[in-house]
Amino acid sequence: LLEVRDLRKTYGDRVVLDDVDLVVEPHDVVCLIGSSGSGKSTLLRCLDLLEDVDDGTIVLEGRDVTDPFVDRREVRERLGMVFQAYNLFPHLSVLDNVTLAPRKVHGVRRAEAEQQAHELLDRFGLAEHATKYPDRLSGGQQQRVALVRALATRPALLLLDEITAALDPELVGEVLTIVRDLAAAGTTMVIATHEMAFARDVATRVCFLDGGRILEQGPPDQLFTHPTEERTRQFLRRVL
Ligand code: ATP
Ligand code: MG
Repeated sequence: LLEVRDLRKTYGDRVVLDDVDLVVEPHDVVCLIGSSGSGKSTLLRCLDLLEDVDDGTIVLEGRDVTDPFVDRREVRERLGMVFQAYNLFPHLSVLDNVTLAPRKVHGVRRAEAEQQAHELLDRFGLAEHATKYPDRLSGGQQQRVALVRALATRPALLLLDEITAALDPELVGEVLTIVRDLAAAGTTMVIATHEMAFARDVATRVCFLDGGRILEQGPPDQLFTHPTEERTRQFLRRVL
């Protein structure tokens, strides 16, 4: 589904990502872990074409999306991204937040988009909030709506960046439960997270980033219990 080769990204003379290779197969759940500043968000932003890369290729569904002639908007329609701070449109109801992209970007008719939105909201326990505005919802509910909104366009790949980092601890669980459900339903995802227990539980593969490189990657059981790199061991000792 996604194949990243030799990705390199710099800001000025600072190398933020280097030599990044990453393959994501359908139904994979890849968790990116690593210290603050290790490049997790930058990698997700590169995958979402929000950043220009300096070198390397990103092949999504067989197409090299780093090609300057590629239609970025069209590529981004295949992706769903959710960030740390829920960025719902404050002036739109939950229902309108969820149906906006299907209607405006994908040309789905309102009735159909709304029916699909209601099904998704129902599935994620948000049915009663459809007509509310974001500021009437808790942080956890807003983040669940942000997930529903990202799913509404049926993306091939969901990119999640620290989606629980801005939440009160008691709200983290309800959002992670949804991601677990999505994983169980076979949704392909790349997830940057500081929640190690969650990564261990949900990931099919964990990538440890260090200084902009994927230093080590493997199945969660292997990476968490038998890391091969000393840097990975140090990191895990600090966070586990
Ligand atoms: P965190 O866990 O804190 O979210 P991260 O792993 O997501 O960290 P990134 O946000 O990807 O890390 O940042 C990687 C490096 O790139 C950091 O050193 C950061 O300072 C730098 N960086 C990120 N965005 C920019 C930018 N727009 N301009 C310059 N440097 C940047
Ligand atoms: Mg980040």
